[in-house]
Amino acid sequence: MTTINEQRLVQHFLDLVRIDSESGNEKAIASTLAEQLGELGFDVQRLPVAEELSNGFNLYARLEGTEEQILLSCHMDTVTPGNGIEPVIEQGIIRSAGDTILGGDDKSGIAAIMEAVRILKEQGLPHPTIELAFTVFEEGGLHGSKNFDMSPIQSKQAIVLDSGGPIGTIITVAPGQQNIKATITGKPAHAGLAPETGINALTVAADAITKMKLSRIDEETTANIGVVKGGNATNIVMPELYLEAEARSLDDGKLAAQTQHMVETLESVAAEHGAKVAIETKRAYNAYRIADDHPLITGIKQGFEAIGVSPQTRPTGGGSDANIFNEKGLTTVNLSTGMAKVHTTEEEIAVADLVAISQFLVAYLSR
Ligand SMILES: [Zn+2]
Repeated sequence: MTTINEQRLVQHFLDLVRIDSESGNEKAIASTLAEQLGELGFDVQRLPVAEELSNGFNLYARLEGTEEQILLSCHMDTVTPGNGIEPVIEQGIIRSAGDTILGGDDKSGIAAIMEAVRILKEQGLPHPTIELAFTVFEEGGLHGSKNFDMSPIQSKQAIVLDSGGPIGTIITVAPGQQNIKATITGKPAHAGLAPETGINALTVAADAITKMKLSRIDEETTANIGVVKGGNATNIVMPELYLEAEARSLDDGKLAAQTQHMVETLESVAAEHGAKVAIETKRAYNAYRIADDHPLITGIKQGFEAIGVSPQTRPTGGGSDANIFNEKGLTTVNLSTGMAKVHTTEEEIAVADLVAISQFLVAYLSR
């Protein structure tokens, strides 16, 4: 098995997480990576995105190899609190000093890819043509991948490195998500003088929610109401309420049915109460499902087996850039880098996992 330069890999990872890059503020990390990839021999393109999205840019890079091609992808942004990250290593585990996230989501993937390429080059190992797509603003919307200029990309298959779980985890099934925004309009009235002449929007919402199937619908489908806003004073019957909800399913038919159920329940209950409801629903992203015998999966499994890791395909409940790249026609899976407790200040990654995912990449790319 190839020996990874652990010290170089860890140092690069620590350097990357120290660069502030909360979503929308990717200029510094994207510029740094563009420079480093250029030094590594990649042909780098800075792909502009709308200013509202990021002060930085999406990054496309290409390293010529054999006729085969593969796209590797990570996102460059982090969730909050992600500024001033000070990583610490204790007993082989990398964490933040405490009051921030670590940013291993998703810089562990970036560091692993770049270490693997350094090894391939140093050892003169044959490899496919490697394309990279490093995205801005993945967290909270998958905006970077949605707005990624796909024109330079020639690969038909892609690997996103942006999942947790044991090394060897291959996410082959991921849900689609539908967002629902609703404004219920009742009727204001003086709460003391004439409450019976009003229509309380909260009463309408509560009635609708008790009649709605929510939380876990079945093994493939979930639904949640996550935002509720309304009311200004206790002496006014609440005239208006705004809510945001979502539904997810691994099955597009079930997702459509759950969405319709939520919309219809809101509409029929509002009508019963004499209230009005305005509903906006939008597909955030589509589900994907890749068969275990797809050549991309069998190749990835071989890569893991070559380093003594038993690969495991499994579904996830979350969306990632892999959903968007699948939508855009690339067969894409999402692999674990070993990152854990992401989106919390307890986020961590084991040095051994960072090394293992780099080793996998070398094995996979040089197989
Ligand atoms: Zn991530």
